[in-house]
Amino acid sequence: MSDVSLRQPFLNARLQGFGATIFAEMSALAVKTDSVNLGQGFPDKDGPSEVIEAATSAIQNGLGNQYPPGIGVPELRQAISDHQQRFYGLSYDPDSEILVTAGASEALAAAVLALCETGDEVVTFEPWYDIYGANIAMAGATKKVVTLRPPHYAFEESEFLAALSPKTRLILLNSPHNPTGKVFSREELEFIAKVAVERDLLVVTDEVYEHLVFEGEHIPIASFPGMRERTIAISSGGKTFAFTGWKVGWVCSSPELTSAVRIAKQFLTYVSGGPFQYAIAVGLALGDDYYKNLLSDMKEKRDFLSAGLRSAGFEIFESQGTYFVTADARSVGYSDGLELCWQLPEKVGVVAVPNVVFYDNQEEGQHLIRFTFCKSLDVLGEAVHRLQSLT
Ligand code: PMP
Ligand code: GLN
Repeated sequence: MSDVSLRQPFLNARLQGFGATIFAEMSALAVKTDSVNLGQGFPDKDGPSEVIEAATSAIQNGLGNQYPPGIGVPELRQAISDHQQRFYGLSYDPDSEILVTAGASEALAAAVLALCETGDEVVTFEPWYDIYGANIAMAGATKKVVTLRPPHYAFEESEFLAALSPKTRLILLNSPHNPTGKVFSREELEFIAKVAVERDLLVVTDEVYEHLVFEGEHIPIASFPGMRERTIAISSGGKTFAFTGWKVGWVCSSPELTSAVRIAKQFLTYVSGGPFQYAIAVGLALGDDYYKNLLSDMKEKRDFLSAGLRSAGFEIFESQGTYFVTADARSVGYSDGLELCWQLPEKVGVVAVPNVVFYDNQEEGQHLIRFTFCKSLDVLGEAVHRLQSLT
């Protein structure tokens, strides 16, 4: 199993303990055991044909085949700016307040590396998305967590306040939230925003699932009073257009913060994905129908898998957004989600992800597992059929 616990002789101290990501590991297990892979979140069908055509035509017409501008091609920066205005009424100047990155992943790494001093603290919610811990460690900063607990993955305001200290530099927020499927409510965001303003903290916000919200609404935290100038809003085209391999992401923030993140970013990849940047610009400008269909299609899959998991005996926690749903391993007779996830492929030929790997306080997540529903209904149906033989 995982090499996470092995000491790596050449790896620096900051990264000791980080092994292969759980997603890579579980996808490899799915291939090895010929299982239905509901572990790593990637769609099994490509995104819109207009966007594919825009990418191939960009390549054929020499658009972006050589280094694009460091901040991203103007067409994409304009499209991101228009998107923020269209969906959220937020205005960002495409030249000074938008930065294109190699996926949201690079944006997150560049933001944390650019903004944190060694010894700073970053407050985030657990379960956290795996790269946050590694990014914080690379920056020589420390992660402080606030636990989201089922069934609603709510958090205690007192725990949030207790996680803050004079060393807190930034809050790293992910909504819609992976792996829980939680969409932070207006009241929760208001509370976080108020604290950020009072304590003069920066907020890095990971909004990659912004268009996959089934219950409630996605409210960018930058839209709360006093927040625009302290928020580094990050998103990407991976989930919205079902091209997770293209890795086109972006940052929207104040000119000063965008410029700080750009300095770190230029020494990571410098630039990436030239032709894909043009294509994602076309995607962002697609009509409302595209966004509506994306959502209704994913909602149908959420409902289908959620009902299927229940029929297989799982207690599940409603997914309000993203393309993930979490379940309690104890409902099918396992006290340990990790053990269940290692046994599922052998026993029934299905792969899921153990959420415990996303917790600092492991006892909080030991019994939780995550399934993705960004697969065709046939594939989900097959997974459900197999899972029904578990108990
Ligand atoms: N944040 C979250 C919460 C994610 O689930 C992912 C996964 N794909 C990313 C960031 C990374 O996004 P990208 O693929 O655009 O780098
Ligand atoms: N975001 C995807 C997930 O949560 C995985 C991306 C990756 O493998 N790094 O499943």
